[in-house]
Amino acid sequence: MAVMITDECISCDACAPECPVAAILDAANEKNPKDDMYYVKPESCVECVGHAEAPRCAEACPTEGAIVWDMPFTVEFSEYYKAGHEAGVYKIREHKSKGLMLPEVKSQPFSAQITSEARESHANVSE
Ligand code: SF4
Ligand code: SF4
Repeated sequence: MAVMITDECISCDACAPECPVAAILDAANEKNPKDDMYYVKPESCVECVGHAEAPRCAEACPTEGAIVWDMPFTVEFSEYYKAGHEAGVYKIREHKSKGLMLPEVKSQPFSAQITSEARESHANVSE
């Protein structure tokens, strides 16, 4: 990933239009595994690397604690994302020939300045 949207989300829609890679889905989207909140597709989120100084979604979000750090979408965290997909935390895209689009199929850029501690504790992105 990436960043993650938590159950603090109030579904205001401020974040989705700001995402440069269309990684944010609203609650009604069938690709969203959550029922009542927005969702970031970890296989698509680039942490805004190459697009902005900081995650645009978090800058637009009015709700404290709604957008937090998650692990980088890199091979090192393939098992983490696979387990999360199986547990329903994520809904990773299934490609017709490539299969589940886990990091070993396609990894994504991530912000190297964010510490492992911040990611593991799902710290607020806007802090
Ligand atoms: S961090 Fe950037 S790329 Fe990722 S979901 Fe937010 S706006 Fe989209
Ligand atoms: S801007 Fe924040 S509160 Fe609004 S939909 Fe996005 S994550 Fe949820």
